[in-house]
Amino acid sequence: MSGSFRMCRMLCCCSSKVSREDMSTESYEEAIAGLTKLLSAKADLGDIAAAKIKQITAELETAGSNQFDPVERIKTGFVHFKKEKLEKNPALYGELAKGQSPKFLVFACSDSRVCPSHVLNFQPGEAFVVRNIANMVPPFDKNKYSGAGAAIEYAVLHLKVEIIVVMGHSCCGGIKGLMSIPDDGTTASEFIEHWVKICSPAKTKVKTEYSELSFHEQCTNCEKEAVNVSLGNLLTYPFVREGVVNKTLALKGAHYDFVKGAFQLWDLHFKIIPTLHA
Ligand SMILES: [Zn+2]
Repeated sequence: MSGSFRMCRMLCCCSSKVSREDMSTESYEEAIAGLTKLLSAKADLGDIAAAKIKQITAELETAGSNQFDPVERIKTGFVHFKKEKLEKNPALYGELAKGQSPKFLVFACSDSRVCPSHVLNFQPGEAFVVRNIANMVPPFDKNKYSGAGAAIEYAVLHLKVEIIVVMGHSCCGGIKGLMSIPDDGTTASEFIEHWVKICSPAKTKVKTEYSELSFHEQCTNCEKEAVNVSLGNLLTYPFVREGVVNKTLALKGAHYDFVKGAFQLWDLHFKIIPTLHA
């Protein structure tokens, strides 16, 4: 029910933008009503005139339906979800109301085309997901990367996920941005390039080992090498390292190619020497 309440609050909010949209909707509806009234009142209008008014009415309705209404989109999306998913799976959503115990922690890109729940058919409760530019896992750093660190810590220590998947993807704009940073390291953005530099070792490797390839092919290779850098960075978190050593946690790399419709999954074998206590 809380979902309905939130939706209601959202739909009832009265920002100036919403008011303007309401006004335009009213004008449009008034125009339709006026034409309809005219059509019924002027019963003696000739067939041609009546047909013309019908045509204009239809065009107005079509034009109105083509206007993107974000509030309406959110409303219909939630109504669909509630009717088709939530209310049809009371057992699942009843359990999820009590708590979550996902098996997966997934790092995926913020790219709108690569939602892991969509691509891998994860059901609610199956995967704890972190999304950011170019699906990068930064190294352990309490000051610079506390957001990522908190998510990993919560997933590993509290939810006790069993598998961490870092999922790269084709045509990744973040990786293209990383590959495009000039050799002198100068940047033009406030945040983006600084963020994607997390996987600079992947760029260096690709530029060295695949120098003969086209820029596009280098980017594709970098998408996968950056995943490996992120897997390595995961090991800078003590609780991840401990889980891997104790075999309660597995790390996997992945690459989703939405051009070819393909998905690769791989393991990265680490040689980790457990901390020796004197
Ligand atoms: Zn991306």
